[in-house]
Amino acid sequence: MTETPFSDRPPARDGKTGAPDSAAPSAPSAPPREAARRSAFPSSPGARAFRRRVFPEATAADWSDWRWQLRARIRSLDGLERVFRLTEDERAAVARHKGGLPVGITPYYASLMGADDPAEPLRRTHIPVGQEYLRLPGESDDPLGEDPASAVPGLVHRYPDRALFLATGTCSTYCRYCTRSRMVGQTGGEQQISARHWERAFAYIEATPQIRDVLVSGGDPLTLSDDKLDYLLGRLRAIPHVEFIRIGTKVPLVLPMRITRALTRMLRKHHPLWMSVHCTHPAELTPEATEALTRLADAGLPLGAQTVLLKGINDHVETLRTLYRELLRRRVRPYYLLQCDPITGSGQFRTPVETGLDLIDGLRGHLTGYAVPQYIIDAPGGGGKVALVPDHIEGRDGDDLLLRNFEGRIYRYPDPGGRIGAEKPRS
Ligand code: SF4
Repeated sequence: MTETPFSDRPPARDGKTGAPDSAAPSAPSAPPREAARRSAFPSSPGARAFRRRVFPEATAADWSDWRWQLRARIRSLDGLERVFRLTEDERAAVARHKGGLPVGITPYYASLMGADDPAEPLRRTHIPVGQEYLRLPGESDDPLGEDPASAVPGLVHRYPDRALFLATGTCSTYCRYCTRSRMVGQTGGEQQISARHWERAFAYIEATPQIRDVLVSGGDPLTLSDDKLDYLLGRLRAIPHVEFIRIGTKVPLVLPMRITRALTRMLRKHHPLWMSVHCTHPAELTPEATEALTRLADAGLPLGAQTVLLKGINDHVETLRTLYRELLRRRVRPYYLLQCDPITGSGQFRTPVETGLDLIDGLRGHLTGYAVPQYIIDAPGGGGKVALVPDHIEGRDGDDLLLRNFEGRIYRYPDPGGRIGAEKPRS
């Protein structure tokens, strides 16, 4: 069922579809019904009911306009109280919040959250609780040492051939476990990394031929206007030694109506362009998110998923199996399962590392290899990403290496002269 048309131009306020997109490529025009079907954007029954209940003044056209969604974000205690039955702990945590990583939730994403259940996974990732203010041993505001590794402000150059371009300090929603909580959503307005920062970053990349791969992140780059993003990607694409550009974003799942036809047309000008989509839980994979991911995949962007492992939210093998299966169905390849970085206040979200290894063990063999991500710890202090792999070597028996398969059975691989496994006692 679809309700709201979602075309490149926001529909008129009376809910009627806006004018056809005059910037469309000059391909033969589709019959009207086919064109309508292609530009339609689903609005699920739950989202429609939520809009009528919480935003009765908003039209269906407003709801499907990403700029309205950004303007209408829930950002205050009053706004939260309109949607959620808050606990005392949540209320106190929101009231004492100052500085970066403000509360911010798009109405669309709020419609997916449990209004009455503080343990509901998506709600837990976005509404602060008192534990956010506890600093545990080993936690810090910049655990990955990104600031010291910045070649110029907003450009982290840690690996020889790659650079991280922090294009903006704005996100459409603010995740409570964010690694960049020190810089996103700063001050009353939201921090915009200035044009001057961008130009210094371009100059650095231009002068550094070993940089072949640029990850454009933030904040969330898809909160930028099409024009700004087009300029940014165009500048990077014009640098001859930059071979690979990626965009890191959570927008397709928290603000799916941002993925307009105009945006995908602009993105495809900059191929080869890849996208890493930040996914947390299967509840995010709604008809709206599916449409957004389909548009991106149809525009030729290879899509990868990054998931932060979060205690009580997605640290269950069935949750991850569902998430990864459903992502593959939407042409998104699970790429990284990331151990939660030790930012200040993240103790509430961090699982033991054994949990991550057990989860990977519970995925392998049960899902196609395409659906099994790498399990990664970003080494604190700037060590970079380290992949952790469950150990399936049980030991050695003479020339045979003893391997444990996904069912726990032992198999022998002839490996004469090999030494791997020699130090392990046979179980
Ligand atoms: S969308 Fe990404 S950058 Fe923004 S708050 Fe969430 S984790 Fe941080």
